[in-house]
Amino acid sequence: MTPEDVLAALDPEQRQAASAVRGPVCILAGAGTGKTRTITHRAAYAVLSGAVPPSALLAVTFTARAAGEMRTRLRQLGVGGVQARTFHAAALRQLQYFWPRVVGGAPPRLVDNKFGLVANAAARARLRPGTSEIRDLLSELEWAASSLYGPEDYVVAAQKAGRQPPFDAAVVAQVYDAYRDLKQAQGVADFDDLLLLTAGVLEEQGDVAREFRDRYRSFVVDEYQDVTPLQQRLLDAWLGGRDDLCVVGDAHQTIYSFTGATPSYLLEFRQRYPEAVEVRLVRDYRSTPQVVGLANDVITRSTMKAARLELVAQRPAGPAPSFVEHADEPAEAAAVAARCKALIAAGTAPSEMAVLYRVNAQSAGYEAALTDAGVPYVIRGGERFFDRQEVREAILLLRGAARAGDDDAPAGLADAAAEVMRAGMKWSPDAPPAGAGATRDRWESLAALHRLAVDLGRDEPGAGLRELVAELEERSAAQHAPTVDGVTLASLHAAKGLEWDAVFLVGLVDGTMPLVHADTPDQVEEERRLLYVGVTRAREHLQLSWALSRSPGGRGTRRPSRFLDGLHAATRTAAAATPRAAKRTRPGPVACRICGASLLAAVERKLGRCPTCPSDRDEVLFEALREWRAGRAKELGQPAYCVFTDATLVAIAEQKPGDVAALVAIPGIGQAKLDKFGDEVLALVSAGD
Ligand code: ATP
Ligand code: MG
Repeated sequence: MTPEDVLAALDPEQRQAASAVRGPVCILAGAGTGKTRTITHRAAYAVLSGAVPPSALLAVTFTARAAGEMRTRLRQLGVGGVQARTFHAAALRQLQYFWPRVVGGAPPRLVDNKFGLVANAAARARLRPGTSEIRDLLSELEWAASSLYGPEDYVVAAQKAGRQPPFDAAVVAQVYDAYRDLKQAQGVADFDDLLLLTAGVLEEQGDVAREFRDRYRSFVVDEYQDVTPLQQRLLDAWLGGRDDLCVVGDAHQTIYSFTGATPSYLLEFRQRYPEAVEVRLVRDYRSTPQVVGLANDVITRSTMKAARLELVAQRPAGPAPSFVEHADEPAEAAAVAARCKALIAAGTAPSEMAVLYRVNAQSAGYEAALTDAGVPYVIRGGERFFDRQEVREAILLLRGAARAGDDDAPAGLADAAAEVMRAGMKWSPDAPPAGAGATRDRWESLAALHRLAVDLGRDEPGAGLRELVAELEERSAAQHAPTVDGVTLASLHAAKGLEWDAVFLVGLVDGTMPLVHADTPDQVEEERRLLYVGVTRAREHLQLSWALSRSPGGRGTRRPSRFLDGLHAATRTAAAATPRAAKRTRPGPVACRICGASLLAAVERKLGRCPTCPSDRDEVLFEALREWRAGRAKELGQPAYCVFTDATLVAIAEQKPGDVAALVAIPGIGQAKLDKFGDEVLALVSAGD
């Protein structure tokens, strides 16, 4: 590819930025206008035209994935050997290279258990924090380090920044101090130290700095609106007073202020480098005019002082974004899953869709709904629900309680489960913690588990802890089925820079968006920008939804996000009827078909008879079903019980359902299983008759 070919793939303004191969260059532009594309092409053009050797260029992007993507794109443009890294990865490499000469020996080891170290530091400050409080402490320490504050600055700085630390600020400062001491005593460093150490070496060691600056001449930073003071300090050390720097960003997409990032370096770039080439891009190549219109409406209401950029859509028209209100969260999740399924049926690849939410804990409901609908998914930037530490811990406790037979709580399964989590984990259904962050996430995860218990208790009135644990294990196994091509589940933060054909922005109620803890006007504005980031991820289909109650039967007192006021009146649709699993709509007493007694336990209900009544199952059919199940499980790469449990197979072999209605009448066979296996099972049954 010639340098001219590279430029030909850009529009005139993009080309102006790309052909300015010597910095300083600043691209200030809205979402989807081709900023990332422009810097990639600029790097390729600089190398191919001979202006900069590839090894002299260092590109910094926000995530390791983005860095990998940039290297791939450069290779496709015929350019290899350019370093594209995160700040951390770049610093780590440099330190490993220089340290032996400057200090001697190997550089400090990277802390491998930061969590444990913070726990120790907290103990020194006479605290006994729980796991989520440790995570919140860690966020405070990281914020302080990223903002270049030491323990002595913490109290004042934290107050000024409106931080909400998990403990008194003076105590957090003590933990911070102890954490530093511990790292030093053990000769280890964390990621933030790496940045600071690298900057320090370059600032203080003239010969190292000279060697480094001989090697690297040209720098480019993507997503510059979210740079932290610590990262900026490293960047300054790299530059060493030179100005061959290209930065791109969108102040309206600043969404990491809570970690110490600030758009001021982007906005004040021209003050710092008055001769900088400044380019503004307004053509949005990513999204339809309908999506772009909504994005413009969302951000117009922002009070941020950054210049307003009105995006101009370049793509052909598409469907209007839809706004959908639901009665409760499970209904919302089920509707989103059903819509994903419909889009897949109409030809959209699952990997071209994303469900985006405000906090990672919201993934639980969507994981369950997509699993029920048989739609594959992948989680980005968060842990799968059943991998979360608190969820594993709770299941362990529930299993223990089930074994001990603690589930004869008269009030029912939901209360029994709540009691186990209250006793073992200090969780209470009606007391969500005040602080944002890890403590709240933990509470939400346990609340999601509790909701599963509520659902099961409602659908199968006799179910106890044992059935709950079995249900959880079944779900966990089903959700662990490895997928490559799945719908992305991600937080809005993790969605930055990415794009999909279809995007679902979910859970848009006040309290979640903006988050209830966004107290100051600045914090509320950051939440609005987060919504803007979400809206601008969609190429074509965009659906925004919310639920009036958390759980079915709730009071419905929640209101849609205030950010949607005035945006959705015209297009608001009523809650779609949601196809729920058949078993959910059909609770009620079940009698033993042999003796007529009422059946309470889930397994009995599944069998349709008392366990003590004689089985009248068709042995030949039962064996055929088992063989079929083994084959299917192997094909799906799942354990056999994820296809059907033994109890379900026995029930089928006994009841020999002749049609769909009879099949779904067997408890445990819901919509998802019916869709996946219904025809095959009915064929097996009829083959035996
Ligand atoms: P964000 O702010 O979300 O990071 P961005 O400004 O970095 O967005 P890109 O991701 O570079 O935008 O581009 C958005 C989409 O538009 C990409 O699919 C890209 O390939 C396409 N695009 C950008 N510029 C052009 C162009 N000149 N011609 C054709 N397609 C383009
Ligand atoms: Mg980008």
